[in-house]
Amino acid sequence: MPILVIRQTVALLAMALVQAALLAAPVRAQDAGPYAPTSIPLRIEKVGEQPIHFSIASTGVPGSVNEGNTSNAGFVITSDGVVVFDALGTPSLGWALLREIRKLTDKPVKYVVVSHYHADHIYGLQAFKDHTSALIVAHERALEYDENDETADEKASERLRQRRAALSPWVDRNTRIVKPDIVFKERMTISLGEKRFVLRSAGPAHAASDILMLVEPDRVLFAGDIVQNGRIPFMNSDDVDTASWLRACEEVTAARPSFVIPGHGMPSAVAKQAIDFTRTYINYVRNSLRPAVAGWLDFEQAYKDVDWSSYQSLPAFGDNNRGNAYRIFLELEREQLRGAP
Ligand SMILES: [Zn+2]
Repeated sequence: MPILVIRQTVALLAMALVQAALLAAPVRAQDAGPYAPTSIPLRIEKVGEQPIHFSIASTGVPGSVNEGNTSNAGFVITSDGVVVFDALGTPSLGWALLREIRKLTDKPVKYVVVSHYHADHIYGLQAFKDHTSALIVAHERALEYDENDETADEKASERLRQRRAALSPWVDRNTRIVKPDIVFKERMTISLGEKRFVLRSAGPAHAASDILMLVEPDRVLFAGDIVQNGRIPFMNSDDVDTASWLRACEEVTAARPSFVIPGHGMPSAVAKQAIDFTRTYINYVRNSLRPAVAGWLDFEQAYKDVDWSSYQSLPAFGDNNRGNAYRIFLELEREQLRGAP
């Protein structure tokens, strides 16, 4: 082969390699996603042999150790598309959830149903909004969750500032709150393929916009934060109403689900067992503080007098327990005033 031809061949080969590298680059970028990459893979499990999947997170408070993966989510694959329940706590995690769905099906994501508008369940909505044509469904009070309104629920803009600091680089200045496309007040049913998704209002209990989603005919219940297992729930917001939270726990049992997936912690096939932790904790805090409220004691003293030993080693105790107790103290005071002649 003449030297010139060899040179040309080498040059062509080099060009081909450069082109291949250039072509490969966007593919790699796409795999990593448009958001800061996560290093901990999602833990995806399945309800028996049914196409109902859920992601189980760590039970801690969102921070760099867990990369914000502290809430559970799920998705149901039907012959006509996918319904997602909750979107996890960062755009990166929403993207990771979307990738898990894509590993199992190429059917379109039709709906993302949101259990309630709190940061740990909604910051991943951005990935679904920007990369699928899914409609976001929530309770109508989710519309109050607004970056420009400091009075609503967990104070959306203050929370976003806090998460940008605590969850950098996964929550950054591009992270935004995505509003629902469809809202409902009491009840809504979505029929897709061979499944029905029955959505029911359950709040205000943990949040103003709490809902439950029952997947029929399987009777699998996505309970959101009405049910939390093995961690101290967050109750320190204006909308928390523990009396109606306890009623919502009873509704979980009344729905006779075959399987319950909580907003935090491990799922259970026994509804009574699933709600037991949340119900016992709420009742414990209420019953422990009630005598102090009846005696018009001050909160500091009341809090000090309670024996917290069975809860203080649990995840999120340090972050949530005192605030929870304070909210419940105020709620009991209101109940007492209402009950007064
Ligand atoms: Zn939560």
